[in-house]
Amino acid sequence: LYNTVQDLKGNIRVYCRIRPSLNGKSNNVIDFIGEDGSLVISDPLKTQKDGRKVFQFNRVFGPTASQADVFEETQPLIRSVMDGYNVCIFAYGQTGSGKTHTMSGPSTGSSRDVGINYLALNDLFQISTQRKEILKYDIYVQMVEIYNEQVRDLLSEEAATKYPFPSEIRSCNESGLNLPDATLRPVKSTTDVLSLMKHGEVNRAVSSTALNNRSSRSHSILTVHVYGKDKSGSTIRSCLHLVDLAGSERVDKSEVIGERLREAQYINKSLACLGDVITALAQKNSHIPFRNSKLTLLLQDSLGGHAKTLMFAHVSPEEDSFGETISTLKFAQRASTV
Ligand code: ADP
Ligand code: MG
Repeated sequence: LYNTVQDLKGNIRVYCRIRPSLNGKSNNVIDFIGEDGSLVISDPLKTQKDGRKVFQFNRVFGPTASQADVFEETQPLIRSVMDGYNVCIFAYGQTGSGKTHTMSGPSTGSSRDVGINYLALNDLFQISTQRKEILKYDIYVQMVEIYNEQVRDLLSEEAATKYPFPSEIRSCNESGLNLPDATLRPVKSTTDVLSLMKHGEVNRAVSSTALNNRSSRSHSILTVHVYGKDKSGSTIRSCLHLVDLAGSERVDKSEVIGERLREAQYINKSLACLGDVITALAQKNSHIPFRNSKLTLLLQDSLGGHAKTLMFAHVSPEEDSFGETISTLKFAQRASTV
């Protein structure tokens, strides 16, 4: 239904989102945002010629774009989950560039300006209600994080006391789950979802205190499992992965040691693996290196094939982020098929 349109556009879509400037200075690196998805940036500190770079994406969301604008673009894709397609949405970018804002909403936790996670589930529940005469849907969620190549269950009841509650990736054909041991919770309304997301955040915060604040140094994955059954008894099974990735910033190797260096190496490796997988998919290569990281292994069934992948590359507009902005945009451009 929704997919004919979507397939025409290719299976990997890359968007760029620029957050509003936080330091109040108008001096930012964005020169031009085109309606066609082009983006021109330049480093104000450099002399004209070599500081200017042009990128092309499916679309660029400027600093004034609302959560609703962003959601509207992803809605058809998200809806295809209800037709049996697997979908992955990634938020990529350096720490502070707005990944969590896009996925979960403002850091203040205010219920205004809710992000894609909430809006997506809200939409899925609406579709489920609209189709209730023809199809009966059951919706479940899992929420995990991947930290130092370890998958951890964020919805576990015991999580706060039992640490580090790891979960192994092993495909279970009957249930369609790749993490059969991680807590799976049925959800019937957005209220259920909000309270689970809060529970997950609490578990994340608890483990953060144990190991410093590391929410930006782990990948957080909210997975929505959809099971549908029609009158004739035929079933569909699909999932939507909503991924808030670890911060992509490079850490200065001369400055970090021990645990922090290990973390940085794990992050670099897993983001590089994700880039390799997406690039291989975009180029329709025969070998896709899913097994090189926990993240890509976990998401394997939802990347490539009939699955749909969408990446939001987040950038900070301030000039002191120029270097990271360039590397984020290059990463995203490499993943893009436009
Ligand atoms: P990240 O998750 O990439 O580290 P955050 O989402 O936490 O970044 O964003 C950093 C700060 O910028 C937060 O205070 C957040 O509320 C704010 N912010 C990010 N994107 C936007 C936006 N589009 N509009 C308004 N504020 C934003
Ligand atoms: Mg964040």
